[in-house]
Amino acid sequence: AKQQGRGILRFFSPELTDRAKARLALEAELRHAIEGDELRLYYQPQTDLVSGETVGLEGLVRWHHPERGMIPPGDFIPLAEESGLVVALGDWVLHTACRQIKTWLDAGLAPRRTAVNVSAVQLSRDHLIESVKHALRETGIPPERLELEITESFVIADREQSFKALAELRALGVRLSIDDFGTGYSSLAYLQHIEIHELKIDISFVRDVTTNTSNASIVKAIIALGHSLGSEIVAEGVETQAQADYLRALHCDLMQGYLVSRPLPVEEITRFLSRAGA
Ligand code: C2E
Ligand code: CA
Ligand code: CA
Ligand code: CA
Repeated sequence: AKQQGRGILRFFSPELTDRAKARLALEAELRHAIEGDELRLYYQPQTDLVSGETVGLEGLVRWHHPERGMIPPGDFIPLAEESGLVVALGDWVLHTACRQIKTWLDAGLAPRRTAVNVSAVQLSRDHLIESVKHALRETGIPPERLELEITESFVIADREQSFKALAELRALGVRLSIDDFGTGYSSLAYLQHIEIHELKIDISFVRDVTTNTSNASIVKAIIALGHSLGSEIVAEGVETQAQADYLRALHCDLMQGYLVSRPLPVEEITRFLSRAGA
């Protein structure tokens, strides 16, 4: 009875009701945003630490809300995941990126690959494979031009289903990247089963890599592990030349961060790619 009483109290708490209402409103607005024209995919370059070449791009979603202005993904991706809307959002991201890759290929501007972020929620559903197949078929781009960034949380979410999905994605020929590597509480066992093209060192390890010896040790270990498995290593959140120099000395392959560029809207990243090619 006590349990029930608490539940009832919570249910009628005006504060929670307001929060629940706000959530529902935001959810409806997000649904509208996905169907309408309020989402944008920005792109951030990934740069070879030795040659300086732009090897890849990462697509990062932005929500241009008509009244609230720009809403960063950290403010709506979690809601999208809880409500299941991340599946529709993920479809939009995949198709938008593949169409853009096609446009860049036709213009001779496409970097080797362009990555999109895939939520563990998407990976735990059969729909993702169909969606990737559809985006590839619709645009006709070579599968290796597309990379999927997946966080280690997939291992916890639904192990069997997620392993199966990763194997099927590999079979399609798309590239796989493990995002925020080292921050998930996962075992490394999945690395035995699935060939991973790329590991991304999380910004939290990169931030003070030049001054914090334990972060430097972790970065060194990730690079050694990744290379021994045949994966390329990307450091995210590189903001200073000192970090870039340090990472190059450790044989990290690529960097991504404000030192090279912020994530840019399509017109600006296209200009960036034309300049880089010239
Ligand atoms: P993430 O995948 O780890 O992306 C890296 C984040 O670091 C991005 O934040 C990027 O703008 C930011 N960043 C890049 N360079 C620097 C730097 O030098 N310094 C600092 N301080 N930050 C840097 P953003 O765009 O706000 O995205 C946040 C997170 O939202 C992403 O983290 C990703 O988990 C999620 N996300 C973004 N777009 C998508 C998407 O299309 N689908 C899904 N499922 N998640 C997305
Ligand atoms: Ca990412
Ligand atoms: Ca991430
Ligand atoms: Ca990260």
